[in-house]
Amino acid sequence: MTEATATRSRPTRPTQPTIHYRVAMPQPASHVFEVTLHLDGWQAPTLDLKMPVWTPGSYLVREYARQIQRFSAHNPITGEPLGSCKLAKNHWQVTTAGVTAVTVRYEVFAHELTVRTNHLDATHGYFNGAALFFYLPGWEQAAIAVEIVPPYPEWQVATSLPTLKGDRRTFVAQNFDTLADSPFEIGTHGHYAFQVLDKPHELAIWGQGNLDPQRLIADTQKIIQAEAQLFGGLPYDRYLFLLHLSGSGYGGLEHKNSCSLNYPRFGFRDPEKYQRFLQLVAHEFFHLWNVKRLRPKELETFDYDQENYTTSLWFCEGTTSYYDTLMLLRAGILEPKGFLASLSKDISRLQSIPGRWVQPLSEASFDAWIKLYRRDANSDNSQVSYYLKGELVSLLLDLRIRDRNPDRSLDDVLRLLWQRFGQGEIGYTEPQLREAIAEIAGEDVSRIS
Ligand SMILES: [Zn+2]
Repeated sequence: MTEATATRSRPTRPTQPTIHYRVAMPQPASHVFEVTLHLDGWQAPTLDLKMPVWTPGSYLVREYARQIQRFSAHNPITGEPLGSCKLAKNHWQVTTAGVTAVTVRYEVFAHELTVRTNHLDATHGYFNGAALFFYLPGWEQAAIAVEIVPPYPEWQVATSLPTLKGDRRTFVAQNFDTLADSPFEIGTHGHYAFQVLDKPHELAIWGQGNLDPQRLIADTQKIIQAEAQLFGGLPYDRYLFLLHLSGSGYGGLEHKNSCSLNYPRFGFRDPEKYQRFLQLVAHEFFHLWNVKRLRPKELETFDYDQENYTTSLWFCEGTTSYYDTLMLLRAGILEPKGFLASLSKDISRLQSIPGRWVQPLSEASFDAWIKLYRRDANSDNSQVSYYLKGELVSLLLDLRIRDRNPDRSLDDVLRLLWQRFGQGEIGYTEPQLREAIAEIAGEDVSRIS
């Protein structure tokens, strides 16, 4: 067989298109991001573009497409417009027969200051990939370049994505998941760099408040060390903390190599409030293992088009909540008395919720999409937070394991799961999670009452 015949007999596979996004914000006070998608090497008669309906870590369909306006497409070589239509609430289709390069323009209204949405005003720009960019079905694994065009030369960019060589305004995500997992902060934020275990860490702070950045960094370093000790090192090259100081906001969203935090700007001097903030830091940081790399099978690959159901959020969130306080104790930030006071408060809180007799934890996890984030007058009677109950079930598991096995604890369950599933990013099933707990506990704990 000659080489030419061999080539002909191979099925033709289209070459990967080059995907380049440009994000401009020429009038930041208008709260509108101007996004341009440029594709090269396109080979199909139609181009499908889909906007995620949710972002990983926040289990609610948020319909990000509702903020899109002025969608248009054209051929960048001839300048001629290309036809397009909408096939669903978050699905656009562009006619691309006979063209290899495509330019798509659209605007995204960004006026919601939370960790899982976009915010643009005269002082800064912040966005989440899932709330700003389309994915191309079939090409989710293609690399994506993102060029940021700030409105003023003094605005800087903070993100965990690496820059394209020689261009400090263009960043590269190896695939769409990575882009959706890498928020951007653009502006004149305070920027601090520090090392922990020889790895570079950054802290970007937007807004003014009563925090002492040096104290915050010192405490954060202790938290990072305590968590790294549990899991045996830090599984990233660089990590970024993005902090928004807001009026009364509160929230955190975990990512693989960064986290976004939103906290009241005057919540750093009062010891109790400051402790709550450090718990938030410890919580989001803990997630870089538990849920970002060590995750349930159902979250192994994300479906951005709809709800992703799992019964294990109690472990992803509840166990992380248990450790966010425990880590402050181990880091020497919290005294034993303070740790016990915090547990005591949470036990009282759980006992005051009648819904704990109605909704099991697995159901609370599964129905997060329609219940936890959509509270109403009946919520306390019919449901229980998988954060709160999951935290206290983790406490009970830890106590039970320690009681029966003096040299073991819940730490060993996490380490076993990390080695078995997390390091290789293999999703675990609910029976596998149960098995790992039983293996360390030396008994089947699923039926203990
Ligand atoms: Zn969490």
